[in-house]
Order: sequence, then structure tokens, then C-alpha cells
Amino acid sequence: MKKGFTITYEYGGNLYVNPTNRCNFNCEFCLRHNGHDGSIYTHNLWLEREPTKEEILASIESWDLNQYRQLVFVGFGEPSYRIDDICWVIDQLKAHGKKIFTRMDTNGTGSLIHGRDICPDFAGRFDMVSISLNTDTAEKYDALCHPVQAGAYQAMKDFAKEIQKYVPKVMMTVVDTIPKEEIENCRRICEDEIGAIYRVREYIED
Ligand code: SF4
Repeated sequence: MKKGFTITYEYGGNLYVNPTNRCNFNCEFCLRHNGHDGSIYTHNLWLEREPTKEEILASIESWDLNQYRQLVFVGFGEPSYRIDDICWVIDQLKAHGKKIFTRMDTNGTGSLIHGRDICPDFAGRFDMVSISLNTDTAEKYDALCHPVQAGAYQAMKDFAKEIQKYVPKVMMTVVDTIPKEEIENCRRICEDEIGAIYRVREYIED
């Protein structure tokens, strides 16, 4: 696997940040499978090493942020592994007078990963969080995502509920390839049980 050092990249009017390749899941649909080194967004997202927080900040600040609608922390991996460094980066951007809508795309298990409630860390730093709901039961979730930790589905739902206290816009997503009934079950979980915004995403071809 050829590795590079793509920390930031542009796509669809947003600037994306790739802070880590670590992940506690091994999703069946993960774009990292089958020798892929990126997505439709960009290639070469395997990092030769994790960037330091200073390198992440410098990479973001090398772009003109006025050009972008959102600054999205995502990663070819689970970005919440770097929550402390990401918070530092956002604080620095603010201190430097940079104004941009901030978003994290996450599997929603950051609190489980860190063994503490990370939700308060998002307050005043993130405008939006997008969480992959993926499916409607814990059993299906485990079979689809193969989380390292037990209880990941419930932890993800708890995070989705809690994070709404700190972040104005919280979205949960599924892909449009799951059965219609499952899409509707997920809608109920997202909107009625959790109270988040629901989005059915288009599947990105492997
Ligand atoms: S959570 Fe994301 S990065 Fe991790 S295995 Fe699943 S799709 Fe891949």
C-alpha cells in the first residue's frame, strides 16, 4: 500500500481534513477495502504517519478558507481518535480570526473509544456533526461494522442524543442501498428516538 501525506483536500465546495487512519470499526462497505487508497473525493488518503496538530493547522491554513462552505473533519479512519488535537486546531483557527462552518463526520463512538464523554468538547467548536446510523438493530450493526468494542450501537445512539446539547446541527445517515423498511425504521430511530436530522445518502461505488 502506497502511503502519502494528504492532510487536507477540497471536494464539492468543502475543505476536508484527514487526521487519522485509525478506526475501531471494519465496515463491510468501507472504502478502505480492496486496495482502495481514497474515495471519489480524492486519492492517497493512507497516511505515512499521523500528522501532528501543528501540521493539521498549517495544512488547513495553507488554503483560503473563504473559498469553502465547510471545514469537515473526516479522515480515512475515525476522526474522533484525534478529538483533543482537533479541538486545539479549531481553537487556533478562531484565535487567528478564521471563520468557517465546522463539521465532523463520525461513526459516533468517540466516547466509547476514549472512555469518557467527549460531547462537551464540541461546544462552541463544531457547527455540525454527522453520524453514521447505518442500520436499525445492534445485531445488524455489529454484522455490518464489526466494531472492536461491545455495545457500539447503543454507544453511537447515546452519543447522537448527547451531542445535540452542544452542537446546533446533528445529522444521522444511512445509505440508500438498505431495504425500504429498514430506511423507515432508521428514520424513526433518528427522528423520534434521538431527535436528529435524518439523511439517506447515495451509496459510493466501491
Ligand atoms: S467507520 Fe468509516 S473508516 Fe471506519 S471502517 Fe467504517 S467506513 Fe471505514
